[in-house]
Amino acid sequence: MNKLTEIKINRFQLNVLLNDEQKEGFDYLLNHGVFCTKCGETCSKGFDIEEIYLNSLNDIKIKGKCNVCCGNVARIIEFGGDKGFFNKANDFRKSIEK
Ligand SMILES: [Zn+2]
Repeated sequence: MNKLTEIKINRFQLNVLLNDEQKEGFDYLLNHGVFCTKCGETCSKGFDIEEIYLNSLNDIKIKGKCNVCCGNVARIIEFGGDKGFFNKANDFRKSIEK
């Protein structure tokens, strides 16, 4: 298979890609698993999503600002290893290619 490119997606597209269980995991990680290098700890007040990407491994990459210090934070959430998600992401890629 050809190497996938990283594409920018919006919140609506992300919602379509994730099933309910994945959405829960995603929300949990956003609130508990995003490390801010400026704060030196997990963003305790969560963070504000600015950009969302589907990367070359069909993982979700998010970029945003820490709600405590406004520092830039990024996190990759590994959905690409999930075969169901991987296939769904590939279908999604095809649907937006046109
Ligand atoms: Zn911070």
